[in-house]
Amino acid sequence: MGEYVGRFAPSPSGALHMGSLLAALASYLQARSRRGRWLVRVEDLDPQREPAGADRDILRCLCAHHLLGDAPPSYQSQRHPLYQHALQQLRQNGRLYSCSCSRAELKQTRLKTASTAYDGRCSTRGLPTQTNALRLRLAEHPKHHFIDAVAGLQTEDLRLTTGDFVLRRRDGLYAYQLAVVVDDAAQGITEVVRGADLLDNTARQIHLQQSLSLNEPDYLHLPLLRDEHGQKLSKQNHAPALDNSHALKNLECAWLALGQQPLPQQPDCPSFLREATAAWRVERISAKA
Ligand code: GLU
Repeated sequence: MGEYVGRFAPSPSGALHMGSLLAALASYLQARSRRGRWLVRVEDLDPQREPAGADRDILRCLCAHHLLGDAPPSYQSQRHPLYQHALQQLRQNGRLYSCSCSRAELKQTRLKTASTAYDGRCSTRGLPTQTNALRLRLAEHPKHHFIDAVAGLQTEDLRLTTGDFVLRRRDGLYAYQLAVVVDDAAQGITEVVRGADLLDNTARQIHLQQSLSLNEPDYLHLPLLRDEHGQKLSKQNHAPALDNSHALKNLECAWLALGQQPLPQQPDCPSFLREATAAWRVERISAKA
C-alpha cells in the first residue's frame, strides 16, 4: 500500500474557529496515526473575500496548536498554471464550453424548472472564452456512488443536482471544484478529511477527477459542530475565532467533539497530539449531526 497523504485546506476568508479546528485535527490525526504525511494548503482563490493577513493568522493559529505540516504550506494563488492546464485538457476533449448566463437568468430558470441543475442552454452556442464562464460538459454517466468513511454510502446524479457546473467564473476566477481536484491529485492526497458541509461537492469532484483521468482519493466528512441555537459553526455565522492562548484546551474540546474518549491531562500541545495520535479511533466519529 502507498503512503497515506492527508491535508487541511482552509480558505483564508476569516480566522479559524472550533469547526475548522475539528477538520484540521481529524485530518492531522488520520495522517499521523497511519504514519503518513499531512499538508496544509491555503485555498486563496478569491482575493475579494480574503481579508489582508488572514492566511498568516490561520498559519499562526495552526502553529500555536502545534499542527505542523510536513512541507511549507502551498497557496492556490500560486498554482494557476496547473488549473489552466487542466482546463486546456478538458477543452481538447470537448468537455468545456463557455456560458454567458447571468445570475438573474440562472435564478429565473431554476424557479421555472424547479431544479438546481443548469439546463445546458449555452452548451451548443459556441460562445467566446473571454468574459464568459467556463462549464464542464458532464460525461454520459454522471451518477456517482461513493462510500464516505463516516457518512456511509452516497449517491448523486449530477444531471439532477448541478448539471454542467462552472470551472472558471466569468470574472476569471478558478472555481473551488477545479482547484481542489487539481491540487489533491498534484499533492498525491489519498484521503480528504473535511466538514460535512462539503459532502455535496464530492460527486462533482469525483466526476472531474474521472474527466481528467486523476486518482480518486477516499473521503471522510466530519459531522458539523453547531452552536447553542443549532446553527452550524462557520465564518458566515460569525463563529468566534480560536484563542491561541488556549490552544491545549481547544485541542481537548475538538478531540471530544470528534467522539473520542477523554485522554489523561497533558501538559502541552505536543504531548496531547502524541497521545491523541495513539488513541485516535476513526470509528468513534459519529455520523449524526
Ligand atoms: N477551502 C475549503 C474551506 O475552507 C475546504 C476545501 C476542502 O477541504 O476540500 O471550506
